[in-house]
Amino acid sequence: MEQNAQPKKTDVMEAIISLCKRRGFIFQGSEIYGGLAGTWDYGPYGVTLKQNIQNLWWKRFVDDREDMYGMDAAILMNQNVWKATGHVGGFSDPLVSCKKCKKRFRGDHLLERFNKENPSQALQSIPTGLPEIDSAIADKKIRCPECKGELDKAKQFNMMFKTNVGASEDENSISYLRPETAQGMFVNYKNIIDAFHPKLPFGMAQIGKAFRNEIAPRDFIFRVRELEQMEIEYLVKPTEWQGAFEQFRKEMLAYTEDVGLNSAHVHEHEISDEDRAFYSKRTIDFEFDFPFGQSELYGLAYRTDYDLKRHSDSSGVELSYLDEETKEKFIPHCIEPSFGLGRTVLAVLSDAYTEDEMGGEKRVYMKFSPKVAPVKVAVFPLLKNKPVLVDKAREVYAMLRKSLGAVEFDDNGNIGKRYRRQDEIGTPYCVTIDFDTIEKDTGVTVRNRDTGKQDRVALADLLSVLKI
Ligand code: ATP
Repeated sequence: MEQNAQPKKTDVMEAIISLCKRRGFIFQGSEIYGGLAGTWDYGPYGVTLKQNIQNLWWKRFVDDREDMYGMDAAILMNQNVWKATGHVGGFSDPLVSCKKCKKRFRGDHLLERFNKENPSQALQSIPTGLPEIDSAIADKKIRCPECKGELDKAKQFNMMFKTNVGASEDENSISYLRPETAQGMFVNYKNIIDAFHPKLPFGMAQIGKAFRNEIAPRDFIFRVRELEQMEIEYLVKPTEWQGAFEQFRKEMLAYTEDVGLNSAHVHEHEISDEDRAFYSKRTIDFEFDFPFGQSELYGLAYRTDYDLKRHSDSSGVELSYLDEETKEKFIPHCIEPSFGLGRTVLAVLSDAYTEDEMGGEKRVYMKFSPKVAPVKVAVFPLLKNKPVLVDKAREVYAMLRKSLGAVEFDDNGNIGKRYRRQDEIGTPYCVTIDFDTIEKDTGVTVRNRDTGKQDRVALADLLSVLKI
């Protein structure tokens, strides 16, 4: 295969899923029991990759700023939280079932699919209301994508996972696995004010799990039922929302570069007045060119004072802010940058997946930015059965590990095979200790993942040569 020649798009997705399983990044949830749809388990390389991605987020949005308060709120919350926000009544998707094979689909996704497959008859916009979805399905004569059976009328399907807290199973014990991390921050607004007395603007930030009973989980970790979000609720004076919105728009793009995404693959999509949630005055979706098409990666919304006002009214606790200078009291307005952690992992995997030819052989490698790569350096003794090489390699390994953390030692098989193994998990550098290292004191060989180029580097310079 030629340099840079990429396989077909659908194959890339399959290749990524299979590489993730084979090399211990991500496994199907509960696999030995046949799996559980919409759940995935992260293995050793996957969890490190994910942690690197979330650490970069925490650094940019929390550690590097003076105006951000980190949080980790409980997943289970008082049911009144979700009544106040409208999630109990309204956090639903339009469900359309097939009368014949009983498969279930999201109505809006069926219509999006129709538009993609039939561009000449495409609907102008995708309706969200049930009667409008029903009439679009009837007008366009849409049938079940699986068996071509007749589709039933659309129904609202609430996506929250309901549970009971405590020993009794009555109305009062109902709780939900949170469908977003955001509310865990809004309900702590008063605690942050009382404990830290911050001045506006300031934000609360958290990374955590959220749960959505998606009608049709799909595309590997893109749409799952147990997900992770990285969210910020940034509170501002009502007159100052535009500046903060613009600042976060730029910061969100900068973050995609932090994790190594190709900026040509990230697109901003301004949501129109008709398509925006009713409480939002402006929303931008950041979309990414995933192997299966351009789809939502992140969202940025100006939510006005909607959330704090609803919580204030429902709880009876005053959630206003006192401006010390003007003595004015008001409920702050909120800018919400919302990031899917799993979707970031998938975007990073998709952009990193590369096939080329090296040394006359086809090669698959993950071109991770060194900042997110799960293993930074691999250290090899040239030969496994020469203690003098192994001892020196172990010494170099221990030295690098102390500074860089994620370093691997490998003495298994020939050097070419070891390079291929590290390429496949995206290790930026391999360091080989050979006889010259010991006998002539000429340093070690450092091999670059992307170019395959090998350089001789003095041991004293090794750390400074590695661009991690
Ligand atoms: P979508 O339209 O794709 O269902 P959404 O607009 O409902 O997403 P938000 O409620 O804005 O998403 O959630 C914020 C972010 O959380 C999304 O931009 C996405 O990155 C992530 N996210 C939402 N739902 C899922 C899911 N089911 N699986 C993985 N990530 C998700």
